[in-house]
Amino acid sequence: MPQSDASEQFPLTLGEEPAFCPACGKPVSPQVLEAEHRPRLVCPEGHVTWRNPRLVVGTLPVRDGRVFLARREIEPGAGLWSYPGGFLELGEATQEGARRETEEETQLLIEVGHLIGVYSRPHAGVVTIIYEAQVVGGEELPGAESLEVHGFGPDEIPWDELAFTTTESALRDWIRTLPGRGPRFEPELYVEGDPSG
Ligand SMILES: [Zn+2]
Repeated sequence: MPQSDASEQFPLTLGEEPAFCPACGKPVSPQVLEAEHRPRLVCPEGHVTWRNPRLVVGTLPVRDGRVFLARREIEPGAGLWSYPGGFLELGEATQEGARRETEEETQLLIEVGHLIGVYSRPHAGVVTIIYEAQVVGGEELPGAESLEVHGFGPDEIPWDELAFTTTESALRDWIRTLPGRGPRFEPELYVEGDPSG
């Protein structure tokens, strides 16, 4: 089950179900199509209005071992910290969108690096893709939707003030990639002859 977080304030980023067909303007109604198992919104002309999750793209921009987060000015999660990110635009590759959103929200210039993770938020209708990024220029300054931009070391992350569970997951996944921070051998799990095992 997805954990609850500030995105609950935004029950569905797709918005309300449309009442009219975007193709012809006639009213749509839920119908189960042949060879399908769930109702789709269909108009009398047979146009199907597809509703699928939206993609959010963002980065964890890193310079000198510090990861830059933005404190959000807007809901959901106003006043809390998250990675710079936003909705992918049509015609944009995920890395391009992640870089655009990062540069808009932090004024940092970045090179997008490896994938940190892909995070599903079914209740919000969102899939979030987060990349690590190297800061190559610029100066951290809040963009239009941020109050503040700050670089945190891995031991300085404000875990209690993160906007989304996705923010926490991405930061934990980033920290796991750092030298000496990866998953460790846990000998208590491998005791031979453990009577309880
Ligand atoms: Zn139609």
